[in-house]
Amino acid sequence: FFDTALRPMITAAAGSERIKETSQRLSVTRRVVERFVPGETEDDVLAAIRESLEQGLSVTIDHLGEDTTEEAQATATVEAYLSLIRQMAQLPAPAPGSLEVSLKLTALGQTLPRHGRKIAEENAHMICAEARTAGVLVTVDAEDHSSVDERLDIVRSLRREFDDLGTVLQAYLRRTEDDCREFASSGARIRLCKGAYAEPPTVAFTGRDQIDESYLRCLRILMKGNGYPMVASHDPTMVGAAQELATECHRAPDSWEHQMLYGIRTDEQVRLATEGRRVRVYIPYGTEWYGYFVRRLAEKPANLKFFLRSLVG
Ligand code: FAD
Repeated sequence: FFDTALRPMITAAAGSERIKETSQRLSVTRRVVERFVPGETEDDVLAAIRESLEQGLSVTIDHLGEDTTEEAQATATVEAYLSLIRQMAQLPAPAPGSLEVSLKLTALGQTLPRHGRKIAEENAHMICAEARTAGVLVTVDAEDHSSVDERLDIVRSLRREFDDLGTVLQAYLRRTEDDCREFASSGARIRLCKGAYAEPPTVAFTGRDQIDESYLRCLRILMKGNGYPMVASHDPTMVGAAQELATECHRAPDSWEHQMLYGIRTDEQVRLATEGRRVRVYIPYGTEWYGYFVRRLAEKPANLKFFLRSLVG
């Protein structure tokens, strides 16, 4: 029932302005949100970065924001990233590659009515240039299926200048095996995740088993390729399969990594890092936490129960 009826309903709520405004006003919502988002300010996220680095984890930071409707919003997002990257460069010298930012092209202006693509690409270029100077990596997040072609085009174009720019492929999309083949042979940093948006069966697998099977097929392609696979999953089956495939493909421990979200399976993140595995934690921050929060609720019945219980008790 959760997968077939509730999950699509909750994910659809991410697009409702009315539900968004009500939730953002409720202080109980904020308490639950804190589990997944360490705070709204740069200082909040810098504290979370320091803590993660001390635990032996790498980080990737998402300045929350999507659905940009005015160019000024996109410019403000760029400013926030540039400021954050400069602050990250001041952190006590962590291991190379341990600092990264994650971008959403829609937050950088991709869906603006005129020149959206051009604006998003120029904004992403500015962030990549600053990040390179600061020794910080960049990955472009995946959003809903309608934006995949344009996102991958922008990433291909930016990779001509910034060849370590990473992006995300979502195993639930039927096209992703082909995309994995392309990027695995171009040496790219690719984050493989299951996918978090409500997608129609015409473009996506919708059953859990089908998604998991697709994930394993994609993972094999990436591990066999010459790129840097970033295995973004909390699922013990995927975590175990990644380790087995890495051994089978004779991969060195520093030629791929695990990734998990802030607040989810934190003990496992630290355990893997203590075992000597590369683990990166995805840390979102900012005031626009609503869409991100709703996607986390939709992933697990227990999260929804926890949220509903906090409303009544
Ligand atoms: P699942 O089968 O969903 O979960 C396996 C187990 O993990 C669960 O049983 C539970 O123990 C734990 N778990 C999973 N989710 C939760 C949760 N919300 N709360 C508590 N426990 C949980 N999706 C995109 O569409 N685009 C992106 O760019 C993107 N970037 C991501 C980056 C990272 C680093 C990660 C880890 C995920 C990202 N995702 C992204 C989300 C991803 O697509 C999945 O929706 C999410 O990771 C849940 O899938 P799973 O592989 O963890 O497995």
